[in-house]
Amino acid sequence: MPKNLEKMDLMKLMNRFHSEDACRDILEKLRWPDGVTCPRCDSKQIRNSYTRNQYDCGSCGYQFSITSGTIFHDTHLPLPKWFVAIHLIIESRKGMSANQMKRILGVSYKTAWYLCHRIREAMTVDSPIPLSKIVEVDETWVGGKKKNVGHGYKWNKTIVAGAIERGGEARLQVLDDRTREVLHGFIKKYVADNAEAIYTDDWLAYKGIENGDTKHETVNHSAEEWVRGDVHTNYVENIWSLLKRSLVGSYHKVSKKHLEAYLDELEWRFNNRNNPYLFRDTLLKLIKSDNLEYKRLVNA
Ligand SMILES: [Zn+2]
Repeated sequence: MPKNLEKMDLMKLMNRFHSEDACRDILEKLRWPDGVTCPRCDSKQIRNSYTRNQYDCGSCGYQFSITSGTIFHDTHLPLPKWFVAIHLIIESRKGMSANQMKRILGVSYKTAWYLCHRIREAMTVDSPIPLSKIVEVDETWVGGKKKNVGHGYKWNKTIVAGAIERGGEARLQVLDDRTREVLHGFIKKYVADNAEAIYTDDWLAYKGIENGDTKHETVNHSAEEWVRGDVHTNYVENIWSLLKRSLVGSYHKVSKKHLEAYLDELEWRFNNRNNPYLFRDTLLKLIKSDNLEYKRLVNA
């Protein structure tokens, strides 16, 4: 694993990764820690042409670059700008909008938007570890009222569910509704069967979520009860205020189709809040993520 990649401020990062070569070098070490390997046939007989940023496979003849088949592939943006963008996204508590990114990096809005989405896409965790111990679960509405043709306003809100293990990680997801079936499904997906306890408010749909190993405690929000001893949902509510501040501050309009990606980004930052190697780990995710095609992104 490459050295000295723990927490860096922006100046250090820009000094260290000031050139394409410096960026490529670190990506090579992260992608192929045991030496350059052909992505097509796994051969290690590779001829290297640094000047052309190209590798030639001695076994199958495949020509590739460090960014081939990764999220960085086919980018016209210099790698140092990518690195700054990644740093800004992971270090900004409330996230970065494409507009902010456009101004900071001096790129077009389209480039900034695509860049933000590519980075965000890589922050998805495919098989997250089930939450255990004490888990708070809650749901909230995101979005606002939208002008409608005809009679005044139409509510255009989306439901987001969240689960957080106290002192641990969070899981967030867009839900179609907040019925018992949907909320129980969300909890079963993210919370371990043998979690110690699940704390929720008194919304009826949560009823029956307990089992032999897991107790279910509620605070009666409808009766203005917010804390009863250890039972409360303050941690998950802190996530909601973080989410809402980021949606207001950074993302002037959030479409439902991209909300899930915003949630993944928030989750990634939150779950890595104590990780000094977050930049390295995000680079690792990016170098191992498939190239996200522009068409797929805009049609998603
Ligand atoms: Zn090969």
